Amino acid sequence: MTYQNFSLSQLQAIDAAHYLHPFTDHKDLRASGARMIVRADGPFIYDSEGHALLDGMAGLWCVNVGYGRHELAEAAYEQMKELPYYNSFFRCATPTPVLLAKKLAELAPKHINQVFYGSSGSESNDTALRLVRHYWALEGKPEKNIIISRNMAYHGSTVAATSLGGMSGMHEQLGGAVPNIKHVMMPYAFELALPGESDHDFGLRAAKAVEDAILEAGAENVAAFIGEPIMGAGGVKIPPASYWPEIQRICRKYDILLMLDEVITGYGRTGEWFAAQSMGIEPDTITTAKALTSGYQPLSALLVGDRISKTLVEKGGEFYHGYTYSGHPVACAVALKNLEIIENEGLVERVKNDTGPYFAKMLQERISGHPLVGEVRSLGLMGAIEIVKDKATRERFQPEGSAAVVVRDHAIAQGMMMRATGDSMILSPPLIWTRETIDMAGDRIVKALDLAL
Ligand code: PLP
Repeated sequence: MTYQNFSLSQLQAIDAAHYLHPFTDHKDLRASGARMIVRADGPFIYDSEGHALLDGMAGLWCVNVGYGRHELAEAAYEQMKELPYYNSFFRCATPTPVLLAKKLAELAPKHINQVFYGSSGSESNDTALRLVRHYWALEGKPEKNIIISRNMAYHGSTVAATSLGGMSGMHEQLGGAVPNIKHVMMPYAFELALPGESDHDFGLRAAKAVEDAILEAGAENVAAFIGEPIMGAGGVKIPPASYWPEIQRICRKYDILLMLDEVITGYGRTGEWFAAQSMGIEPDTITTAKALTSGYQPLSALLVGDRISKTLVEKGGEFYHGYTYSGHPVACAVALKNLEIIENEGLVERVKNDTGPYFAKMLQERISGHPLVGEVRSLGLMGAIEIVKDKATRERFQPEGSAAVVVRDHAIAQGMMMRATGDSMILSPPLIWTRETIDMAGDRIVKALDLAL
């Protein structure tokens, strides 16, 4: 049975009858019906009615090498034929996760040499949370278990990852978060800087909020700080350059672990393999997923720094944690091939030296002056367009997000897939975008903004 035997309306009826979509208002979806994306190639996705859309989101921030990479399908096929599955529990291992771990240790910052696998970013953050608490328990300081995070952070959808995150709507539906997680202000100057406050000073003030939370809880009770280098789902919020080095300094001062969530920023998006390198910091853990396989297989890797892994090995004792699919051989084979493609095609360097700066220039020169745009921002191939009602006062449309959704729908009609989150239009395209693709995206976004005026 293939989908071609069904009309769009038949597929939508089956969808409505049986499929509960993630992050969806199901009443709303039943009224409109889902767009069926049926195939993809290079930077384009195609719907069932034959419309081509330039994918400005790389799926969900993940398809970094673009679509239609047969090498990745072949890597999966070969591995499935040889060994489709075996676990890494009970003193067993399979070769592909072992070799992938070595590769990741080579790519990661020098002090990071160990990897713990899962199948999603959420799982990987669950692992990170449990691992840092386990670390302090092994160090004889089990009371050091508070984690500090930020408002509007997104760390995933499991109970622990939702608790780590700072999305109020998600917390409301949780009915009780994992205890001992505290949230502080996000480093978002466009909305939170005081009149006349420089970006630099704002970055230091936002970092000071972390220090204040540590002092309030008592450093002897705080295990770690967790943050996305650039808040992604919260609206591509890029902190001032002063923020992350100050966070690192504060964590060191109070002997608190630094956990970086690079589920979106990992594997080239900011123009370095990891945004830790772009921000010049040395986290104790880096959560990665998504672009590790360019989304061709579900896989996450928590990169674990030497400080933690040394304690795990020296103190011993079982870490009671793991997933059936930790180190899934097929997903790891795809990841190895995906990293080879990124390296062979020089995609990280290309983002850093060519397409990233060109993307920033396009946003500045063609989009930032538009009457509906309050700010554009980007790093590498990750950016946002802030929608405002009044450019001068930064007044927003009401209700929140209403205008961004209109721009998004016009963009889709123009053949440009992008996402609206709150009042931010966000972009995170495949790293294979060229200058020509960026120009094409610029044309379509300008049209969408004009139509929304
Ligand atoms: N962390 C960040 C920063 C994310 O953006 C996401 C997903 O978008 C996650 C974690 C959760 O990853 P997953 O959806 O694979 O569980």
